[in-house]
Amino acid sequence: MQKIVVTGAGGFIAGHLVKELLKKGHKVRAVDIKPLNEWYQLSPEADNLVLDLRLRENCYKAVNGYNEVFNLAADMGGMGFIENNKAACMISVLINTHLLIASRDCGISRFFYASSACVYNGEKQTDPNNPGLKESDAYPALAEDGYGWEKLFSERMCRHFMEDFGLTARVARFHNVYGPFGTYDGGREKAPAAICRKVIESTITGNKEIVIWGDGHQTRSFMYIDDCIKGILDIMYSDIIEPINLGSSEMVSINELVDIVEEIAGVKLVRKYDPDAPKGVRGRNSENTLIKKYLGWEPSIPLRTGMKKTYDWIKDQMLHSTESKKSKSRFNK
Ligand code: NAD
Repeated sequence: MQKIVVTGAGGFIAGHLVKELLKKGHKVRAVDIKPLNEWYQLSPEADNLVLDLRLRENCYKAVNGYNEVFNLAADMGGMGFIENNKAACMISVLINTHLLIASRDCGISRFFYASSACVYNGEKQTDPNNPGLKESDAYPALAEDGYGWEKLFSERMCRHFMEDFGLTARVARFHNVYGPFGTYDGGREKAPAAICRKVIESTITGNKEIVIWGDGHQTRSFMYIDDCIKGILDIMYSDIIEPINLGSSEMVSINELVDIVEEIAGVKLVRKYDPDAPKGVRGRNSENTLIKKYLGWEPSIPLRTGMKKTYDWIKDQMLHSTESKKSKSRFNK
């Protein structure tokens, strides 16, 4: 049993990670800046702390007395958020910097950092038929402005804390992660959740139109949350010292993703394309040679299967929130 700190635990991926670590019998301290009632998943068995980890003293409070750290805290969201909040994304550098310093000073034995496919050079992502981004494609550096540069800088800080201070650090570059208990509205949601929400809205309202950002031909790959959690743990306890891709290599266009959700919902919608909306790079996919070689593994849950689970969860949330709004308005009358 280890004593493990998970940051960003009120969010999507880290909320699932806390649950998995508790299931494995670890003692877990879960930390997030959000008030507890806003956490997507709250595990009462964990030591749940509300702390702003941009502040150095809070990072000491977070890690003191524990052995390992998974750092997933970041001010982030989908394309709509990161294209319009570059400074906020870059300020997350304080979280990683102060957590690394506190981890070094408090004798943390292993440190995990959640990086992103947004570190990759934009010039290698101009073709929708992207053959897959190899780890070496992050250099020469031309990362996604704001968010991607912060991730790349923080990756390198992990590397130098390992080289200069002997802190064991592991870095995974996540490619889009999706699944239940993630953001699906409010402006920080990513494409899979946003498309599910829009299709569900159309089934509720009867409006048969869907707005798609860009021309729908841009490509991505999407990794289901269960695959992501397994990958995080495998990478954390491996000997892999370089940043490594953690993503699916099942690349689809956004139009194909909409096809999948329409098929799940049993509807066909009229597509309206918004060329001015944030679109990100033209083509992105994960190249998984290294993770297969080192860990003998890559994500396994097919997109259709994961999207069905995600769709069902979002639909349930939306129907519940409609119900609770209705019952509140009945109560108020
Ligand atoms: P999320 O937004 O659901 O979770 C991040 C959490 O960090 C949030 O709950 C937020 O409140 C918390 N946080 C932000 N600022 C903080 C602060 N100052 N102190 C403490 N907590 C703070 O995002 P997620 O999708 O779960 O992503 C987790 C990590 O994985 C992030 O580092 C993200 O950049 C990275 N990542 C995610 C994806 C993806 O597809 N979801 C892709 C690439 C990388």
